[in-house]
Amino acid sequence: MRVQAALCLRDGAPLEIRDVELAPPGPGEVLVRWGASGICASDKFVVTHAGWPKPYIPGHEGAGIVEALGDEVDTLTVGDHVVSDLLGACGHCRQCRTGRPRLCEPQRRRAVPDIDSRFSLDGTRVGRFGHHEIATFVEACVVPEASLTKIPDDVSFEAACLLGCCALSGAAAVLTRARVAPGSRVAVFGCGGLGLAGINAAQLCGARQIIAIDVVPRKLDWAREFGATDIVDASQGDPVDAVSAATGGAMADFAFDFSGSAVAMNQTVGVVRNGGMVVLEGAGPPGTQLVVDQAELIDNEKVITGAHAGGGIPALDIPLLIDRFRAGTFKLDALVSHRLSLEEVNDGFDLMTRGEARRSVIVFEA
Ligand SMILES: [Zn+2]
Ligand SMILES: [Zn+2]
Repeated sequence: MRVQAALCLRDGAPLEIRDVELAPPGPGEVLVRWGASGICASDKFVVTHAGWPKPYIPGHEGAGIVEALGDEVDTLTVGDHVVSDLLGACGHCRQCRTGRPRLCEPQRRRAVPDIDSRFSLDGTRVGRFGHHEIATFVEACVVPEASLTKIPDDVSFEAACLLGCCALSGAAAVLTRARVAPGSRVAVFGCGGLGLAGINAAQLCGARQIIAIDVVPRKLDWAREFGATDIVDASQGDPVDAVSAATGGAMADFAFDFSGSAVAMNQTVGVVRNGGMVVLEGAGPPGTQLVVDQAELIDNEKVITGAHAGGGIPALDIPLLIDRFRAGTFKLDALVSHRLSLEEVNDGFDLMTRGEARRSVIVFEA
C-alpha cells in the first residue's frame, strides 16, 4: 500500500513529504493506521544530530487503529485502538522479567539500520525511528505487536498518542521510577511536556509541595496549571537557594530533571535533602557530564539515578494514566497545545525551538 510520510533525507534539513510503499505485516507484526502523532524533542534531535542511515521516517509517539494482523499475533485484533511504545520489549529477558522493560536486553542489542522496516521508496528501504521499530510521521506503519498497548476507544488519538512518549515518560519517572511518597516535597527542572506530566504525576502521588523550575516564564505559568505549588525562574538566581527558601530550609525529597540542560542537571543534586533522590530523565547532548562531589553520595547518602523513557512499565502505567485522565486528575489532553497536519511537521519543530508548544500533535485525517 502507498502511504504519505515525512522523510528525513538529509541531516539537519527540513523533513520532506513523500508517498512511500508499505509492505504487509510479517509474523508478530501489526499494521496500524495512525490517528495522531506527537512531535518530540527526540525527533528534532535525531534529524539534526544522529546521522542515522537515510532515508528514514521519524516520529515515535503515536495512537491509532489496528488495520491488519500478521501471523502469530494473539493479543490484538483488527479495529483495536492502540498506543505505540517507542522502545518495545521482548517480555522474556531478565530485565523484562524483573520489571525493567526499558532495559530490555535484546532491544538494546538492536542496531541501525532498521532491517525489519516494511517501508520503501522507489525500491530503496526506508528506515523508522532508529532501532526503535516505530515511525509515526506517516499515515500507517507496521509495528511489532509487543510495541503496542491497547487503549479504550473513547480516548481521543490526539490525547492518547502522548502516552507513547511524553506523558508516559514524564509521569512514569515520578510514579514508577522514583515512587514519590505522599507528603513529599518535589522539585521539577524543565516544564515542557515531560515536566508538566511529571508535575501532574507528583500531584497524583500526594506530594505536599511541587516546585517547578525553568528559565521560560510561559512554562512556569503552565506548571502552575498542572499542579506546581511554587515556581522558580532559574534565570533570576540560583535555584538551590530558591528551593531552600521555598521549603524553609528542608530542601526537596525528590528532584527531577526533564530539561536535558547540563546546568540544570548539576543543580538537581543541590536541591535535595540528605538521603533524597535525584532522577535525570531529559537527555542532553552526548557527552553531557554530571559532576558530583563524593560527599553527596557518601556522607549525604543522596541517590542519583536516571530514567530511560521514564523507566516505566507501559503495560501497567498506560492503563493507570488513562484511568486518571478519565477521572479528570491527569491532564493528558491539556498537554496538547497545537494541532498540525503532516505537511506542517516542520512548523511543529519551529514551535518547539521557540518554546511555544507544550506539545504539538500531528492529526491525521480519518
Ligand atoms: Zn519522545
Ligand atoms: Zn526483554
